[in-house]
Amino acid sequence: MTFEELRLVKPLLDAVRDAGYKTPTPIQQRVIPTVLDERDVLACAQTGTGKTAAFALPILQRLAESRPPRRKDGQRSRRRPIRTLVLAPTRELAIQISESFSTYGQFSKLRHLAVFGGVNKNPQARSLRAGVDILVATPGRLLDHMADGVVKIDTIEILVLDEADRMLDMGFMPDIRRIMKHVPKRRQTLLLSATMPAPIRELAHQILNRPVSVEVTPVSSAAETVEQFAFHVEKNDKPALLASVLDNTAYSRALVFTRTKYGADKVVRHLTRGGVEAAAIHGNKSQNARTRALAGFKSGKIPVLVATDIAARGLDVDDISHVINYDLTNEPETYVHRIGRTGRAGATGTALSFVSRDDHGTLRAIERLTKNQLQPADDMPGYTAPEVAVHAPAPKAAKPSGNGSGRKRSTSRNSGRKNTRRRYRRGRGGQRKASQTSN
Ligand code: AMP
Repeated sequence: MTFEELRLVKPLLDAVRDAGYKTPTPIQQRVIPTVLDERDVLACAQTGTGKTAAFALPILQRLAESRPPRRKDGQRSRRRPIRTLVLAPTRELAIQISESFSTYGQFSKLRHLAVFGGVNKNPQARSLRAGVDILVATPGRLLDHMADGVVKIDTIEILVLDEADRMLDMGFMPDIRRIMKHVPKRRQTLLLSATMPAPIRELAHQILNRPVSVEVTPVSSAAETVEQFAFHVEKNDKPALLASVLDNTAYSRALVFTRTKYGADKVVRHLTRGGVEAAAIHGNKSQNARTRALAGFKSGKIPVLVATDIAARGLDVDDISHVINYDLTNEPETYVHRIGRTGRAGATGTALSFVSRDDHGTLRAIERLTKNQLQPADDMPGYTAPEVAVHAPAPKAAKPSGNGSGRKRSTSRNSGRKNTRRRYRRGRGGQRKASQTSN
């Protein structure tokens, strides 16, 4: 199927071509015509499926093809009324959605804006007063602007709730319900969610009108192109293991997940001390710090990004070669989201999970959900046992610089821990591998 067959108009086809897309993804094939037909949509799809374009393209087309409805008094508003509201759980996702509207809407005259917390309200308020057609917002900041009387959403024709399950996890449901009271009853509504827990199904039932259900790649079957390995490790040895893994693996970009914000900062400090450029993104970082970290990661300047789950949601970075679960997540579905950051668009990727004693039950749950057993660390191609890194401080200067794609730096610090290796290394005769392998 082609984008032309989806009835998209020329400016959008041009934008899609400019973006380098050749064929619509499965969710785009289903959702684009449905939105153009003005039907409600309930889509079960995760990041990486092309879901943003699936709703942004037909919304741009619908708005471009019609004029905003008249006000109740029959007059047209002087300022542009907001015609589409997209609610997103995180600032990062809001920014990415807004960037997608810029990309796909580059040949249209529609204006869009993203508003989110953590930054000064005033510039956002000024832009809102100037009038926008499409508003992308995190729920809390939208309510702030509504309370200030800066924004009215009673003119909405299309409402999108993106990553609804994450909004639920983040405690946004009361905010969503408050916002719902202000949108018109007559509207088109799209609800997208990676998973469909009961409260989301209930919300869908309440706010959608005879929706068309679309499901692409059920979460448990995601990321078949990702090779998954388990490293059994004592909690205290995780920093040394991470340093060693990065030291011995050819990676282009590695995304490291920690359970807590504090943990993320600690990992960054540890890596930085060992000479690895790393940055953290999480909810306690200022918007500027997050944007800087993300830009560095995207440009390749910072090869290792350490993130908590919430901060990583919606992160759209191509070419992440390795996802490292420094802390395993208790939610198997989150595991699938995490590893879905690599191996995107058919590329291969590698996911490494550090499994400590307490994690065995979690690991079993993940393996049950994904119907896949994580491979032992020793089976990872090109991986050299962490002995060198853990036991002897590796000679910094003597290391080869890698094959161009790999980032090799000596990060070893743990010369004092003599017995660490046995705990997470399985078998292989115990030979000491001092040489570096980069594949
Ligand atoms: P999303 O699921 O919206 O986060 O999109 C994931 C990535 O897929 C983004 O980098 C998009 O630019 C990209 N993408 C979206 N649609 C297509 C397509 N039809 N062909 C190739 N890449 C696409």
